[in-house]
Amino acid sequence: MSNPSILILPGDGIGPEVMAEVRKVISWFGEKRDLAFDVSEDLVGGCAYDKHGTPLHDDTMAKAQEVDAVLLGAVGGPKYDNLDFSVKPERGLLRLRKEMDLFSNLRPAQCFDALADFSSLKKDVVAGLDIMIIRELTSGIYFGEPRGIINEGNERVGINTQRYTESEIARVARSAFELARKRNNKVCSMEKANVMESGILWRDVVQEIHDAEYPDVELSHMYADNGAMQLVRAPKQFDVIVTDNLFGDILSDAAAMLTGSLGMLPSASLGAPMANGRPKALYEPVHGSAPDIAGQGKANPIACILSFAMALRYSFDQGDEATRLEDAIEAVLAQGARTADLLGNEGETPISTSEMGDAILKALDDSL
Ligand code: NAD
Repeated sequence: MSNPSILILPGDGIGPEVMAEVRKVISWFGEKRDLAFDVSEDLVGGCAYDKHGTPLHDDTMAKAQEVDAVLLGAVGGPKYDNLDFSVKPERGLLRLRKEMDLFSNLRPAQCFDALADFSSLKKDVVAGLDIMIIRELTSGIYFGEPRGIINEGNERVGINTQRYTESEIARVARSAFELARKRNNKVCSMEKANVMESGILWRDVVQEIHDAEYPDVELSHMYADNGAMQLVRAPKQFDVIVTDNLFGDILSDAAAMLTGSLGMLPSASLGAPMANGRPKALYEPVHGSAPDIAGQGKANPIACILSFAMALRYSFDQGDEATRLEDAIEAVLAQGARTADLLGNEGETPISTSEMGDAILKALDDSL
């Protein structure tokens, strides 16, 4: 059997810097855990535009469709701010998500104990937090028709349409239930069924899928506004939250920030299973290309390394190895290793991007 395949798209700004550390981690798993991957690399974003005049070449798109998982760094930067909308770096990312039909966006909010002081909430509210928000990514109000700004009488009217089909709700609900089974077996579905018909349908379909296919998973429903309150009041009550595109956009940002720095946040976007049973998958840190610190060795590589841990868990069924990697990161943080974004007290000295990568490799060695 051939090795599982990964396409690496480092992108722009700090993308290549953090991805270099991920490559070290990937090699470590090949050498020390007999878990080798066939890794290829290509361009996305501004660097692809510089070379090909497009932020995502058709050949790169075709490769992304063939591999078992895509790992992306970040795209964009001031150099590209004035480009036409159709060739902006972000269009490369949007094309990947659209053509791979990545409808399920996983955003974990996980608090490493060593960083609990970083949260704006009290330490005991967030210490040990480990929740997952699943946001529907390819439908809902960001895509629904009719949309636009029209003239009505003597004023303008802005219109967007929240629209969900049963099958769109069902497939993201399934991905939430499947994920819950790999975690603590609890799903909370959030909508506004009190004021929106699409919310009523959402709630009905999630319940139907649960009753028919996942009765072993604990399911609850919550209005999204209450969900927002509960997330900052007592976030540890949740395991998996599933919600639509708009509410998920907002709730996942709020939940992620419970845990502190942008340099720590991974994500996964998953689609339908391929012929080999693995879902189409794109893993990427939540942060952007951070042009303000690019090229200085200051970037925190942990968000990107944690994105690879998600790939181990969700694409390659290597949950134990994903946990090994997360534990290594926890150990390094507990020892006090900090990139500049994680410095709290004055007098602390930051380590560089590659020193953080090396420290994680050392902790991985120690785990053997
Ligand atoms: P950003 O996430 O790049 O940076 C925001 C702040 O967080 C900056 O001060 C940056 O230095 C810091 N930061 C981000 N990641 C960090 C890391 N790993 N380690 C340490 N510090 C980190 O967001 P921005 O400044 O709004 O956008 C910069 C560029 O990135 C823009 O061109 C934007 O369009 C693009 N962007 C891309 C993505 C993506 O590729 N998915 C996401 C967001 C923004």
